[in-house]
Amino acid sequence: MSNKFVEFQNQAETVRARQAAGEITQAELDETLRKMKLKDDKWGDTWMISPTREWFRKAKGSDTWVRDYPVELIDPATLPLIPKMDLAQIAHAVYDCTRCPLHQSRTRGVPGEGPANADIMLIGEGPGYNEDKQGRPFVGAAGKFLEELLAVAGYKREDVFITNVVKSRPPNNRDPEPDEIEACKVYLDRQIELINPKVIVTLGRHSMYRYFPGASITKIHGQPQRVGNRLIVPMFHPAAALHQPKWRSFIIEDFHKLPEFVKEAISFSQTKDVDPSSATQLNLF
Ligand code: URA
Repeated sequence: MSNKFVEFQNQAETVRARQAAGEITQAELDETLRKMKLKDDKWGDTWMISPTREWFRKAKGSDTWVRDYPVELIDPATLPLIPKMDLAQIAHAVYDCTRCPLHQSRTRGVPGEGPANADIMLIGEGPGYNEDKQGRPFVGAAGKFLEELLAVAGYKREDVFITNVVKSRPPNNRDPEPDEIEACKVYLDRQIELINPKVIVTLGRHSMYRYFPGASITKIHGQPQRVGNRLIVPMFHPAAALHQPKWRSFIIEDFHKLPEFVKEAISFSQTKDVDPSSATQLNLF
C-alpha cells in the first residue's frame, strides 16, 4: 500500500540528492522544500519538511506551523512499551489510545507539543473543543491567554512544552475523572522523563493534584516546591483566571516569577542530585 508521507519524504530526498550532485543550489533546495506541501486526507492538515529534515504540521483551521511527526511514518507493530517510547511514538500511541472511555467521544488525541529539551513544561487539564479538533493543546481562548502569560515572563509558546493530564477531550469540557487521569499517567510520566524539564508548571487543580494531592490552589499557587532537581509550580488554570479578576492578577504575578524559578532550578541541576523524598515541604493545606 502506498503511503503519502513516505512518498513525500522520498520526493524531498530526491531534491536533496539533486543539490548534493550540484544540479541545484542550496537556496533552490530550501525554496523547493519550503514550497513542497502535503495535505493529509484524514484531517485536512498541511505538512512540510524543513531543510534539516524536520516535519512541520499546520492543523486545519490553524495558521501556525508546529514541529510534529506524522504517525503514518511509524509502523505500529514496531512500537515499544510506553515507558520505552520516544516523543513521536507517544504521540502515535495517544492518537490511537483506547485506555479509557474518553477515546469514544474524542475527535483527535492531543499528545502535547514543544521542544524535546524544553526547560519549562506546562501541564493543563485536558483538551477542549478546539484542541480536540486540531490535535494541539491550548489553542482556544485559554491558549491565547496562556500565550500572553508566557509573554509576561519573556517566553514564546515555542519555548515551552505544553501538555495535559488527559490527552483526550472530556465530553462537554467536564473535569477529567481520576481513572481517566490514571489511565493517561503513563504518557505524561514518559514525556516528563524524556523532556526532563527544569520547571513544571501545573495549570489548574487536576494537574496540581499530580504533585500535591488535596492541596488548595488558592493557598499554594505561585509557590515552587523542589522535587529532586526540578521545581514544581502550581498555578491557576488560565481559563478560570481569564474571567476572575482576582485570579487573573495572581496568575500574571506568578508568571512574572517564572524566569526566576528557571534560574533557580538550573542552579540545582548544576549541583549534586537530591533525593526527591527529601524535597522541601510546603504547608499545603
Ligand atoms: N484547557 C486545558 O487544560 N488544556 C488544553 O489543552 C486546553 C484548555
